[in-house]
Amino acid sequence: MIERTFVAIKPDGVQRSLVGEVLGRFEKAGLKIVAMKMQWIDKDFALKHYTEDIEKRRGKKVRDLLMDYIVEGPVIAMVLEGIHAIEIVRKIVGGTEPKNALPGTIRGDFCHASYDYADKKELAIRNIIHASGNKEDAEYEIKLWFNDNELHSYKNVHDVHIF
Ligand code: ADP
Ligand code: MG
Repeated sequence: MIERTFVAIKPDGVQRSLVGEVLGRFEKAGLKIVAMKMQWIDKDFALKHYTEDIEKRRGKKVRDLLMDYIVEGPVIAMVLEGIHAIEIVRKIVGGTEPKNALPGTIRGDFCHASYDYADKKELAIRNIIHASGNKEDAEYEIKLWFNDNELHSYKNVHDVHIF
């Protein structure tokens, strides 16, 4: 039941100085950071992260727009560990469209753009953060972004009070 999930604070989140705020929410929820780094990816890498699955779900146009957005600046990549971590992190992150993301979620609190606006401006929706959508994606994304020796197993206070 203890899972690992991949999270990236996207270039807008980093450039808006929201790294500490975002990390704090995960830490306070009792999720354990087991890997973390800053990385400025290129489009080849971005295509591996946003696989053909995004094209099937959202269309080629959105995948193309994402290729510009995600390489705009460095991202903070991390792996978080916790009970049902994949689902819990998605809950803390909030819905994809900031306009409809609930208050109290990262996307609901720190951005507000809509699909309509993004479509008109021909931009990817800037929503601060990426989090793996399911178990298969989490496994794939963790392997893509991190080597085994960058993933750490250690004890922290969560092992006493949360796990
Ligand atoms: P999530 O990030 O919530 O898992 P998706 O995997 O469906 O959502 O989409 C990946 C990212 O693509 C979103 O976080 C957002 O930045 C962007 N995106 C999704 N749909 C659209 C859209 N219709 N127009 C513009 N950008 C979009
Ligand atoms: Mg997704």
